[in-house]
Amino acid sequence: MRVASVVRACAHIVAIQSVKLPARRVCEECMQIGTPNWVHLRTCQTCGATLCCDSSPNRHASRHARRSAHPVIASAEPGERWLYCYPDEEFAEY
Ligand SMILES: [Zn+2]
Ligand SMILES: [Zn+2]
Ligand SMILES: [Zn+2]
Repeated sequence: MRVASVVRACAHIVAIQSVKLPARRVCEECMQIGTPNWVHLRTCQTCGATLCCDSSPNRHASRHARRSAHPVIASAEPGERWLYCYPDEEFAEY
């Protein structure tokens, strides 16, 4: 899947050639700590980790982005086709 429809986006988003989709629809870190409790899932576009969003109690996706310096996530929700860059606070649909 190419990110063809991005008109104006930061360099991190423009650099993405194909969007990584979730291997499994679970938050890997919530499963590890035994609290499978999340609202939405996001997939890191650097390493492919699928983690929970900022509306979830543990906010693993944004914590992962800060700790690992992996800037861009994609929504892992069925039917949602967008990317978000944390450092630039930039959304892009694809
Ligand atoms: Zn960016
Ligand atoms: Zn989580
Ligand atoms: Zn990552």
